[in-house]
Amino acid sequence: MKSATVALVAHDHKKSDLLQWVKNHITVMQKCNIVATGTTGHMIAENTGLAVTRYKSGPLGGDQQIGALIAEGKLDALFFFWDPLNPAPHDPDVKALLRLCSVWNVPVACTPATADLMVTSPLFLSEDYQPLKPDYGK
Ligand code: PGA
Repeated sequence: MKSATVALVAHDHKKSDLLQWVKNHITVMQKCNIVATGTTGHMIAENTGLAVTRYKSGPLGGDQQIGALIAEGKLDALFFFWDPLNPAPHDPDVKALLRLCSVWNVPVACTPATADLMVTSPLFLSEDYQPLKPDYGK
């Protein structure tokens, strides 16, 4: 089993969904190195006891800090429960974060159902699985 760095981000109306999801998958989350945007990370750490490296709050640059991890090849998966029903002041950052996942082929789950499927895959945390990294040098 390899250790994986995963990022947790949830918009305000989705934070309770993410917390419940993390509790449902606490065993696998305990095996991960967890990073998160500020408020999400505080909520997860307080309510689960998991160790969480917290960046700035999303609207203050936290999404971009996680995006930088992706650009540097330091993030293995993103669990991003964004809110489809309410506008966010940092909508461009949200779009940029999702875009970088596609640019660098980083697995991203935006709903609890997708997240369930991702962490229960035998490939998750498997030494045998390495996602293809695009080579933009060509
Ligand atoms: P937050 O940021 O965890 O600080 O609330 C999440 C976001 O809005 O991107």
